[in-house]
Amino acid sequence: MTDYRETLHDNYGQFFKIETMLHEFRTEHQHLVIFENARMGRVMALDGAIQTTEADEFIYHEMLTHVPILAHGSARNILIIGGGDGGMLREVCRHDSVDRITMVEIDQAVVDMCKEYLPNHSSGAYDDPRVNLVIDDGMRFMANCTEKFDVIISDCPDPTGPGEVLFSEGFYQACHRCLTDEGIFVAQNGTPFLQIDEVKTTAKNIQELFADWHFYHAAVPTYIGGSMTFAWAAKNPQLRKQPLDILRQRFAGSGIVTRYYNADIHQAAFALPQYVLQAIGKPSND
Ligand code: SAM
Repeated sequence: MTDYRETLHDNYGQFFKIETMLHEFRTEHQHLVIFENARMGRVMALDGAIQTTEADEFIYHEMLTHVPILAHGSARNILIIGGGDGGMLREVCRHDSVDRITMVEIDQAVVDMCKEYLPNHSSGAYDDPRVNLVIDDGMRFMANCTEKFDVIISDCPDPTGPGEVLFSEGFYQACHRCLTDEGIFVAQNGTPFLQIDEVKTTAKNIQELFADWHFYHAAVPTYIGGSMTFAWAAKNPQLRKQPLDILRQRFAGSGIVTRYYNADIHQAAFALPQYVLQAIGKPSND
């Protein structure tokens, strides 16, 4: 039995015993691997970086969907950039209040192979009549986009290879342009303990554009290095400060049963530790 060794970080990393190799293929864009691991279930990696595992994907996908959608309160039109494993789409589809979901994924092979080998991630979400799947580069899509969205979720890989452009100033400018006045942008932004430059760069790029910006976080075990940060950017500063009773009402009203997200976690997730505040140049979590 061989091991899968993540190569995302130099000098430090994680490995998974491969019980069964389910799929390995160099797509048009990246090296795709899907395998079975006794502890984490089925695992998908791209270009040597773990993207998602059946065991802990719920934390990541619940925090990048229910936080912005419930903070917004009346989100109808949602955009997902990336997200080819389908987990983000599944969680957005659980909101009956959402009318339209556009998902822009660069790699058809990731969608196809995750449908086949990680069926519980999308769990039929691609068949939801509200869903419009676009196979394209997220940057190209945003550059030509004339639509306005209530929530934009950048479910991007690390800023390497095809994912690099999703951390560019041009991408954030386009997201700002394509958000409604009450719109919210959120994005996967790495684990600051190991990737502090990622939050520094994103903070620099978004603070010039958005009236309100911050980060929130959650620990996702297979995104090694402790808590993963999620970028938050909005035109309306109130949205990040929704009172706990409002969040609790909205969560209860959604009828969604989660395994990680709740209103208390939502509110607490915006409390960043000092080293991250120092990295993003903020004196406090206000
Ligand atoms: N949770 C993962 C993480 O934190 O790294 C991200 C998961 S998701 C699988 C990342 C997706 O982004 C992949 O399906 C990849 O194909 C897609 N992707 C990469 N670059 C892209 C681009 N420029 N436009 C759209 N999708 C892109």
